[in-house]
Amino acid sequence: MYKDKELFKLKKKILELNKNFPNKNLVFADGNKNSQVMIIGEAPGKTEDKLKKPFVGRAGKLLDELLSRINLDRAKVYITNVVNYRPDKNRKPTSEVIYVFKKLLFKHIEIIKPKCLLLLGATAATAVLNYKGPLSKVRGKWKNIKIINSYFDILTTFHPAFILRYPNKIKIMIKDIKKIKKM
Ligand code: URA
Repeated sequence: MYKDKELFKLKKKILELNKNFPNKNLVFADGNKNSQVMIIGEAPGKTEDKLKKPFVGRAGKLLDELLSRINLDRAKVYITNVVNYRPDKNRKPTSEVIYVFKKLLFKHIEIIKPKCLLLLGATAATAVLNYKGPLSKVRGKWKNIKIINSYFDILTTFHPAFILRYPNKIKIMIKDIKKIKKM
């Protein structure tokens, strides 16, 4: 009940930002709000904007496949993005946009209160870890970080869209996400 009410309030706040993303739909989250695992991507793409759900396009299909390798599926985890609207022309979100959404994302994390966070790619690492260096330095490593008032175990890995471009990296990503199961 508490989570529903808080998520509703958060959604309302994010909807106020819709004016900056004309003709784009809000892509809030998918999955189980009581999950121990919260997955954070970058921003919705064309399919996600159309279906108003995160990770339902090509990268999403791959994410589903990767989750199935560790006996998880999207109904068992909670999935969202740093940015909740599709950026214009599918561009990478700018630092200004990340800054605006970061506060809302932190509130989202506080409401869901998962046991661990899985960050997919550099945008999520920038927003959550405040990390701007090469992904290779943080990938596959656990960090314990305070977000608002609580500490969270946070693991960073590749974005599935990267694996679509570099399929030979899939084994590394599977090895990374297996660490969630050992939590
Ligand atoms: N890429 C993302 O980062 N998020 C989505 O929801 C889809 C593709």
